[in-house]
Amino acid sequence: MKITAIRGFRDILPEESASWQVLTSQARASFAAYGFHEIILPVLEKTELFARAIGETTDIVEKEMYTFIDRDDSSLTLRPEGTASVIRAYIEHSLHQKEPVSKLFYIGPMFRRERPQKGRYRQFHQIGAEILGRDDALIDAELLLMLNDFFTALRLDVSVDVNSLGCSNCRPQYRERLRAFGESKFAVLCENCHGRLHRNPLRILDCKEEGCRQATKDAPVIADFLCDPCRQHFAQVQALLRQENVLITVNPRLVRGLDYYCRTSFEFIALGLGSQNAVCGGGRYDGLVEQMGGPAIPGIGFAIGVERLAMLLQAQERIVATAPDLFIAPMGEVAESQAFAVARRLRQGGYRIESESGSRSLKAQMRRADKLGVRYVLIIGENELQAGKGTIRDMQTKTDRSLAVDLSSSAQDLMNAIRDTSDQPSAISRQSEGAEHSSKPEV
Ligand code: AMP
Repeated sequence: MKITAIRGFRDILPEESASWQVLTSQARASFAAYGFHEIILPVLEKTELFARAIGETTDIVEKEMYTFIDRDDSSLTLRPEGTASVIRAYIEHSLHQKEPVSKLFYIGPMFRRERPQKGRYRQFHQIGAEILGRDDALIDAELLLMLNDFFTALRLDVSVDVNSLGCSNCRPQYRERLRAFGESKFAVLCENCHGRLHRNPLRILDCKEEGCRQATKDAPVIADFLCDPCRQHFAQVQALLRQENVLITVNPRLVRGLDYYCRTSFEFIALGLGSQNAVCGGGRYDGLVEQMGGPAIPGIGFAIGVERLAMLLQAQERIVATAPDLFIAPMGEVAESQAFAVARRLRQGGYRIESESGSRSLKAQMRRADKLGVRYVLIIGENELQAGKGTIRDMQTKTDRSLAVDLSSSAQDLMNAIRDTSDQPSAISRQSEGAEHSSKPEV
């Protein structure tokens, strides 16, 4: 029987991985500008970490984790999200003693046993970041600005929803008021919401069921319950974002799924993704570090869904596949080993070279070169070889010219000769010159 990948787990093939490359390099660049450093975390953690951080009664912990008992009887879980691991590492390595403020980002796979559908997988990837050690409105606005810069650099149209979830002083009153409201609509709420009313009534606001949405249309909003410090904090976050011309929408229904959020919470929504259109979600979690056994240090963070963003980039056909710099077409066995040597020399010089076996016909090789989108083909034939020569075919202009192939010259000289730089000096591109070579959005 044919073995296939597990349902909800997928292969990212080269045509898609090109956009991942773009996303992750842009994230690294945008985050570095704001002083973030990467943290590389294990994918497997003790189950209790997530039970403690995310909350025993959340969908993730109750239904979605990949948990198994290891050979030593300990319960382990494939991480369903990154924040819990960042906090664990932060406490474990006493990072707060090294720096008053830690700005950390991570990139990697997460695992949730959800119902797979377009844009929703069981192994998916997140680019996430956390700031630990500050709770002022400026830092919240800064984090949102960084995300805005990231999406702008990718030229993706996203809208930003923000809300404040209050704090442990003001949220309990709101939660009780909302619960009472929910009880009054009990008959029309879905079964899930019945459970939510009991455990975390705020979540009835983000139920996707139409009946529940209608029933909660006039639900009390948290903005009316915020205490003065929370109100001022939220007002300042909004003012700073507006000052920087970031378009935000205050969405009182934005409550986020996890128990640990407080104050600023936000979501970035992309157009054109269908129902799974949330590309980034995050918020403040001031009590979490302490709850996890660390000092009372506030935090805020987010996670971006890589698959969904990659889908967007691809839908906009903005990723240009990278063509090799040169295709070397040997004709015959002797030419083959010469081609082999030239290819190696140029590759060592940082050029992208594709080549073929000398037993394939020239026609077949040219067809392949054409498909790869290369501009120049170096044809090495048996006869020319004696004279240390090759033929350069410019696939764009469809012209041929003869070239002296001198393996004692440097890779760059060789490549310059191939490209005939007297015609186009600016066409030289080498890997050492940086991002020029990688797949990138057309700008
Ligand atoms: P969350 O950690 O639930 O706040 O999710 C943050 C982001 O990760 C979401 O906005 C999605 O873009 C992405 N995401 C969450 N769950 C999945 C999933 N099962 N498959 C693909 N992307 C996901």
